[in-house]
Amino acid sequence: MSYFVIYNVGVQEGVGRATLLGKNVYIKNGKIEKICNVNNLTISDLGDINIIDGSGKTLIPGLVFAHTHIAYDDVCGARDVLFKHPLTRLSFIAAKVAKKAAQLGYTTMVGAGSVACIDVYLKEAIEGGLFDGPNLVPCSRDIMAAGPIGSRNKEKVTHIPKDYMPVIVDGEEINQVVNREIDDGAKIIKTFATGDDQFPNARSSEELFSLAELKQIVAIAHGRSTLVRCHARGLSGIKNAIEAKVDIIDHCSYADQESLDLIQENNISIVPSFYQPLQYIANGSKYGKHPEESDFHIEVENTMNFLPKAEAMGINIAIGDDFGFAWTPHGTYHQELITFQEKLNIPAVTIIKWATSNGAKMIGEDQRIGQLRDGMQADMILLSADPSLDIHALANNIEKVFIAGKCITG
Ligand SMILES: [Zn+2]
Repeated sequence: MSYFVIYNVGVQEGVGRATLLGKNVYIKNGKIEKICNVNNLTISDLGDINIIDGSGKTLIPGLVFAHTHIAYDDVCGARDVLFKHPLTRLSFIAAKVAKKAAQLGYTTMVGAGSVACIDVYLKEAIEGGLFDGPNLVPCSRDIMAAGPIGSRNKEKVTHIPKDYMPVIVDGEEINQVVNREIDDGAKIIKTFATGDDQFPNARSSEELFSLAELKQIVAIAHGRSTLVRCHARGLSGIKNAIEAKVDIIDHCSYADQESLDLIQENNISIVPSFYQPLQYIANGSKYGKHPEESDFHIEVENTMNFLPKAEAMGINIAIGDDFGFAWTPHGTYHQELITFQEKLNIPAVTIIKWATSNGAKMIGEDQRIGQLRDGMQADMILLSADPSLDIHALANNIEKVFIAGKCITG
């Protein structure tokens, strides 16, 4: 159907406002041609056009998954990320994950560090028509440091093939490594201002790349019109990432008021971690992990404290919380959104904004996707209940998912 109308549907635009009832949404050649009031038009008044009856249903924009590791397959740590499967097998797993995510309403997925550049090849496969999948914004391999400056040991990283993940020991490698990722097709560079309580090379509070190195990475990427996203949990790393002018801060776990002010001033987007550390604390021990040795409970507490403030300040918050770990398996994505509603009392309409228009804004695509309005790409979810009233509808009530006007859910 290249031309159809969804008749008498509730339109949740994705910008944080209440759902508009009684609308007709006309879709032509993959785009929203117009949204107008039903007025007194009945279905029979619409003539020959293909009609989907939206009575009692709600239409929302397709979701933007803003932090995706499409090829993490129930991993339990850094070694699993790289070596759990041979790359050929991993490619099929990633394809299956992408297809399923799209069916769950995640019509855009933004990479957050990809093993062996798999994001780029997956995007090519979807765009080449091998299978229906989301719009993919391919991320680079993780551009990782062997440790904080002064404790980078070349011998400890010789087992990691550069083609899987470049691990920098000497800052002079940065130029070549970042340029290679962009040459390979990455639209976002992923790097690390801090470690992580789950990393082998540094903890959340320790810095990985220095401020000067982060600035170098950003200069190369921005010089080639490529975004930079930066893993930053500890406060000094968050501040370095801001000063280096990265575009996206991932996790942002120990943010304080001063850093939030700077994030807002510099128009940086954040993708917080909340559901993932909660799941790690609750279930990590079932997979041989030792959550009690991490400080994730402090990160969670600080995130609970700063997220409502960040929203009130107008900071661009997007969603996608490290799925693909054994305790956050792919396909359970809606649980992140439900957790924001249940544990933080964030209004569902705000959560939808984070998951749609804010994600689009994060990647500079907010004039094309992330909202329902005239002229936008017809990436949409039709539901039998309104998720802006209760976010659980995303887990229970999806009827159809459209990507560029094509229904991919049958
Ligand atoms: Zn991640």
